[in-house]
Amino acid sequence: MAPLMLGALAAGGAPLHAQAPPEAPPNAARIAMVIHGGAGTIRRQDMTPARDSAYRAALREALGRGYAVIKRGGTSLDAVQAAINFMEDSPLFNAGRGAVLTSTGTVEMDAAIMDGGSGKAGAVAGVGHIKNPITLARLVMERTPHVMLAGAGAEAFARSQGVAMMPQSYFIIDRRRNELERDKQARTAHQHHGTVGAVALDSHGHLAAGTSTGGTSDKLPGRIGDSPIIGAGTYADDASCAVSATGAGEYFIRNVVAHDICARVLYKGVPLAQAADEVIMHKLVALGGGGGVIALDRQGHMAAPFNTEGMYRAWVDTAGNVTVKIYRDE
Ligand code: ASP
Repeated sequence: MAPLMLGALAAGGAPLHAQAPPEAPPNAARIAMVIHGGAGTIRRQDMTPARDSAYRAALREALGRGYAVIKRGGTSLDAVQAAINFMEDSPLFNAGRGAVLTSTGTVEMDAAIMDGGSGKAGAVAGVGHIKNPITLARLVMERTPHVMLAGAGAEAFARSQGVAMMPQSYFIIDRRRNELERDKQARTAHQHHGTVGAVALDSHGHLAAGTSTGGTSDKLPGRIGDSPIIGAGTYADDASCAVSATGAGEYFIRNVVAHDICARVLYKGVPLAQAADEVIMHKLVALGGGGGVIALDRQGHMAAPFNTEGMYRAWVDTAGNVTVKIYRDE
């Protein structure tokens, strides 16, 4: 298959098109950003117009917040964090407020962030009171000798850092309670999309990636998904690419998806879009692993393949063109 560029990957071969493009900074270094708000059974016929536009507005706002950081010369890490913080605060997404519920009706969130320039990474897993898990993941990276903190230890570290903490009632919204009830009755695989992620390329030439999630609905307490696992749901390396994943986490862990995509770029020398496509549209499809990724390299090439019915996604390319999409057929 010919290497696919982002427009072609947005199934149906729809070309990239600009929506209210901000002016690209003159003579600026190449900057770009891609975000996602989860992949899964997202169908046009199940959406009300109001809901559709609420998601598009939230994606546009999150992207704008991240892009503003790199546009003024800030770092890709700050951009990734800013975009994800916004989506964590929005009840629309399965991260922070609005996270999906465990089988016992509690919230347990995971997040990771990685700096492609230094190779440093930070992650938190199974946290129930951190308002913005991606912020805590960043502090793990910057202020501890560790990569991942989980559960009570992560929350104790959060308190020591003065990070905003919330009671469980802040995170739990009615929509997720209803979904959990339905999931318990259905006893099938649950696909309540809404994990959030971002990848960015800053004007210093550095990549970063981040992912934040409540995991999967009706999961066993203690279950940890791919999002906080470096190389599975989140990975960034200036030498290859930055990736954030969403989908059936167990498949993404077993197939080390984010790292596999970057490794294909680095070792096989294939274009980013082809590498992402090989893993998401071929390898995972053959195994039955539903989901998608966003990916970006240092040249500003982007990819956003997904093998599900939809993926909330938005990007700003190196020319400053903004695109927001939800369904497969757009
Ligand atoms: N990948 C996430 C997890 O398995 C869920 C998702 O992206 O929808 O925890």
